[in-house]
Amino acid sequence: MTRLIKLYDTTLRDGTQGEGVAFSMEDKVRIAQRLDALGIHYIEGGWPGSNPKDLRFFKRVQDAVFKTARVSAFGATRRPGVRPAEDPNLQALVEAGPPVVTIFGKAWDFHVTSALSTTLEENLAMIGDSIDYLRKHFEEVIFDAEHFFDGFKRNREYALRVVQTAEAAGAHCLVLCDTNGGCLPHEVAAIVREMKTVVRPTSPLGIHVHNDSECAVANSLAAVEAGASHVQGTINGYGERCGNANLVSIIPNLMLKMGLESLPREHLHELREVSRFVSELANRKPWASQPYVGDSAFAHKGGIHVSAVLKHPETYEHIEPELVGNHRRVLVSELAGQSNVLWKAREYGIDLDKNTPEARRILEMLKKLEDEGFLFEGAEASFELLMERALGNHRTYFELQGYRVIVEEQSASGDGEPVAEATVRLRVRGMEEHTAASGNGPVNALDHALRKALEEFYPNLRQMSLLDYKVRILDEAKATAAKTRVLITSGDGDETWGTVGVADNIIEASWQALVDSVEYKLRRDERRSQH
Ligand SMILES: [Zn+2]
Repeated sequence: MTRLIKLYDTTLRDGTQGEGVAFSMEDKVRIAQRLDALGIHYIEGGWPGSNPKDLRFFKRVQDAVFKTARVSAFGATRRPGVRPAEDPNLQALVEAGPPVVTIFGKAWDFHVTSALSTTLEENLAMIGDSIDYLRKHFEEVIFDAEHFFDGFKRNREYALRVVQTAEAAGAHCLVLCDTNGGCLPHEVAAIVREMKTVVRPTSPLGIHVHNDSECAVANSLAAVEAGASHVQGTINGYGERCGNANLVSIIPNLMLKMGLESLPREHLHELREVSRFVSELANRKPWASQPYVGDSAFAHKGGIHVSAVLKHPETYEHIEPELVGNHRRVLVSELAGQSNVLWKAREYGIDLDKNTPEARRILEMLKKLEDEGFLFEGAEASFELLMERALGNHRTYFELQGYRVIVEEQSASGDGEPVAEATVRLRVRGMEEHTAASGNGPVNALDHALRKALEEFYPNLRQMSLLDYKVRILDEAKATAAKTRVLITSGDGDETWGTVGVADNIIEASWQALVDSVEYKLRRDERRSQH
């Protein structure tokens, strides 16, 4: 039987420690749902004891249905000299209430005495007590042995006692951490191999490593090779300093190179799309030469190289790019061929690889929009509307006749905060609507004015709200002036969706994304009521 390697994603917790990575609560919910659909086994949602936003996330996902993933909360062991039932951090974990909890304890004696300022014996008691207590409240308790490898190198006996204490207290998985990220693969392999002989054969070992020596992926694989069966990491390797282990590379390495099981095989081709989805929500530019999923990962430039690769792809490609949802690029300019686009199109019964008139029409539209700077990762709703338009099924709910936005600084009258006001002229069901509304910024004011004009015709728009708003200046645009891309996340309590707009100015780009968001809601509700 093939060995199953369980994947534990900590993008939403450790990943957000990375410089420039921040997710709103809605982003976190969307990422969790996307990772669940991919087939990740565990999703660490946050540290409820350290951050009220994280606690809200756990409340929010309590009713959400996850198909494969188990949601986990992260926290520290009890504090020195405090009973578990009285420790606020452990209480926050219990209050968060997911099925799985992951707690970390120090496995390096130096950290115990210098950072925790307690005795080595008390640290062991803290680990044992906390696990014992949490087992009563959670289905699964995972133990992260923090600084395990550094501890092992300096005080092997103590590091072993830490792991054995967690094992004896009943932790369901013992995760060995290279918290400082300085280890090399041969060290990790040797230590994990030794640990296999120390713990009971039934105790699963896990690995959690950082990338400070640029070995996080290699170290994770070395640990698996040596017997670990649980791998922690983040999407695109986001994380503190140089990042965490990158699951987007670890997964295909495990499945395609090492012959192990991790994701359901039929989801492997979604990797590129998931990688892009998360980078879009993190507002980070995708990394072109990212192994497996980057735009350049299978890009071939001119000459002998290209003719060889066209005849025998294996001459210059380590895997078939389609296995991870990527594709070969030979020509300088061509459709980016994003996998989610192909995949979404298939849901509409359109195979973009086939030369049908619909496929040709959609490809033409996509090519044009991509030239303008559109990207549909993270904006599935806009893509659905594009498909509707290409298929001739698009319905107009209103026609824009014009809008105007004024931003005014009213220092004399108010507190000096500028005030935005928007007016919108629309035709809705043959009627002229002319509304004005204010807001705390121009986009907010436009959103209010648009809704005000439409709500009497479409009362269901009242359920909908704008949850998140992101702006990116496209310096890579082909036009001479920089363009602006706006990504909006909206929700109605039932679903959240993303829409995109691109224009020379931020107001127009925002307007496009707003209109798509409203049209998506109206279209979806209409289709639902027909069933
Ligand atoms: Zn970490």
